Amino acid sequence: MCNACFRDDKIKTLTTFTVEYKDCIIVVKNVPCLECQVCGETIFSDEVSERLEKLVNAAKSVLQEISVIDYSKVA
Ligand SMILES: [Zn+2]
Repeated sequence: MCNACFRDDKIKTLTTFTVEYKDCIIVVKNVPCLECQVCGETIFSDEVSERLEKLVNAAKSVLQEISVIDYSKVA
């Protein structure tokens, strides 16, 4: 069920997850998610959220101005 509009019209898709951290931008492409067909809210599974957190933490330790990670290649 959608957290935002509480409808149940979600599709499996891929999204781009972006985080700003200090002066850096971390971009993770091709992240699997469920997207609400009604309001466009995207929802990540627990497994994906956990994986994303690790990827972002790893990117933070490198601290490049822009880090682009392809989820489908590292997961
Ligand atoms: Zn929704």
